[in-house]
Amino acid sequence: MLNGELWPAHPHPYRDELLSSWLVRVAHANGLKVQTFCAQEFGNDHQLWNRDIDRMAPAWLIESMSAKTGTSLKRVWETTLLGYEGKLYDKYHPAGQLRWILPLQIYHRKRRGYGLQFCSKCLAEGCEPYYRRSWRVAFYTFCPKHDVMLWDRCPSCGNGVVFHRLELGKPDLIDGSSLQCCWFCGFDLCSAPTVPVNKWNDRTFLSWSRVLRLIDRGAADSRDFDYSKLAVLHQFCALMVSMRCAPKLIAYVQEKTNQLPIPLVKRRIAFELRPLVERHHVLGLSWWLISRWPSRLRAAWKYRVVRYNVLGKDFNAAPEWYLSEVKRLFSDN
Ligand SMILES: [Zn+2]
Ligand SMILES: [Zn+2]
Repeated sequence: MLNGELWPAHPHPYRDELLSSWLVRVAHANGLKVQTFCAQEFGNDHQLWNRDIDRMAPAWLIESMSAKTGTSLKRVWETTLLGYEGKLYDKYHPAGQLRWILPLQIYHRKRRGYGLQFCSKCLAEGCEPYYRRSWRVAFYTFCPKHDVMLWDRCPSCGNGVVFHRLELGKPDLIDGSSLQCCWFCGFDLCSAPTVPVNKWNDRTFLSWSRVLRLIDRGAADSRDFDYSKLAVLHQFCALMVSMRCAPKLIAYVQEKTNQLPIPLVKRRIAFELRPLVERHHVLGLSWWLISRWPSRLRAAWKYRVVRYNVLGKDFNAAPEWYLSEVKRLFSDN
């Protein structure tokens, strides 16, 4: 055990930093590999890296991080995805899909998914690289600060981002400057090429960027933003990719917006499991559909590309303003 109340080096979390990123930095600042640090400080029976600690942070970890770095408990909890409860998703649950939260898909310490995205320009800014909480959000497909597309994998080898794995099997590596390197091939993620966002509709991208900036601020309570709009946006995204529920909807919106179709994953999988490029494409179309509410939905309804019964399908706790509009559509028919 390291002695004393505080750890010898106890950096505080950066703005919007994820718990996992912060923990690795704390270990490195104390001159240790993260696994060694965790084993020393928390004991070997407390396994951390076989789970998504940003989503399921154990209370003992939060308490230790708070006490040993002199950071308030509230601030430590804010480094987890729990802070999005009641905003991006309704109620936190440990298993299953949380709306808008990218899953890491961990099996026996390995990650198969691409649940941690990054902006190479943001990563390269500041004193040292760190990973943001907002990069775990499924509609955060581009950086509103740099207007570039995010990456959800290493551009060199195609593996997902798993920064704590960088040290496995490398006994001497305690260099804290490693968070930006791909764990598999060592590529410097700060130098990942940047792809500008194609903002094909001013209004759509204005609303979208505004919400991304709100997420940057930790999904702060906002008097002029109603989070239930994001629940409806999610429903539109789910319908857009569903060949069973609304097979003609996506083609209709693509035609209205002059957007070329892209190949979509045909299997029935959650929106959050779809590749970044697909999510980005579908999100743009859904933002467009929700804009000028409810006239575009009505037009789609009149065009018979969306049916009454699918608009509320699998949509738990749908907002009242949405349900009443859907009912109105039905009664107009
Ligand atoms: Zn950025
Ligand atoms: Zn790589």
